[in-house]
Amino acid sequence: MPGTDRTSELPDFDNRDIVELRPQLSRPSPQLRPLGVELEAEPIDKFGETCLAGTIFLVGSECRFRCTMCDLWQYTHPGPTPPGALAQQITHGLKQLDESLGTKSLATSAAQPSIPLRCIKLYNASNFFATTNVPASDLPNIADRVAHFDRVVVENHPTILLPAITDFKERLNGRLEVALGLETAHPKLLEKLNKAMSLNDFRIACDWLLARDIDVRVFVLLQPPGLDGNSAIDWCLESIRVAEKSGARQVSVIPVRRGNGAIDKLQQNGLFKQPTARSLEVVMQNVDAFRCIVTADLWDWQHIRGTCDACSQARKHLLEKTNLTQSPPQLKDCLQCNDQ
Ligand code: SF4
Repeated sequence: MPGTDRTSELPDFDNRDIVELRPQLSRPSPQLRPLGVELEAEPIDKFGETCLAGTIFLVGSECRFRCTMCDLWQYTHPGPTPPGALAQQITHGLKQLDESLGTKSLATSAAQPSIPLRCIKLYNASNFFATTNVPASDLPNIADRVAHFDRVVVENHPTILLPAITDFKERLNGRLEVALGLETAHPKLLEKLNKAMSLNDFRIACDWLLARDIDVRVFVLLQPPGLDGNSAIDWCLESIRVAEKSGARQVSVIPVRRGNGAIDKLQQNGLFKQPTARSLEVVMQNVDAFRCIVTADLWDWQHIRGTCDACSQARKHLLEKTNLTQSPPQLKDCLQCNDQ
């Protein structure tokens, strides 16, 4: 698969440009119910051991950063998060997860519905330790609601390193895991993504968390703007390597999505191509080259390029299996869509 690196041609979008390019979308208001919950099996090591994990999608205020590829703002509201709202959302979310535990039949044979929920992900589409996103006064209350889980995962920008993180961790009985967006190890491209973070900031954040006995999960992008084909795959693998060297316990590979405005503009100008299912499969073929857990984010699988009705579900299932077993997926050619 040929590849190109056109990173140097990318425009220097700033916060204002990125906001101006956003499409008009209806966004949630401050509320006491979460946006939703999800129950899924998660790998806990490289040998096929899994656990049942719940995610509560919280509704709070918007992240203060404006990354070029980010579309998470559509799940947030512009004003600050009202005190107490997230704790109530978590109470509702835990109840919903409890209810679905009784009914949901997990799609993998590696997990059974009777396995207790051991991991909880509190995803607020912004930064868990920024006070406008999660009021500082709410943190003890939130920690107490999830203290009984083996693992609590939250998202945070690598430059937000505060004593509140260790205070939160100290209230938990299980492990705290902070998910950081490395996005890409391509230094020039990282700058162009307007993440307000350097590779050095990322490494400092990992060291800071690990020194406090906090686990690190890392988000890495597949095919950010400026890269395609083999260049995108190579940089994705290099980004996983950097995350692993920095001490990541788990790396999640996220195929870049269209639809946030800035990415669509770059696509119109020939500087962004949607990643294909085959690119994600090729990245995941290297899963056993890493000591850290590597998973493919299949959240938006139905919109990924290069699948058809004949192959989509089977290929998704192979990647789900790879996520849990940490064994490379089989590459199968589809005679209908002939994706390469
Ligand atoms: S830091 Fe995360 S949530 Fe904030 S804009 Fe960037 S990708 Fe989105």
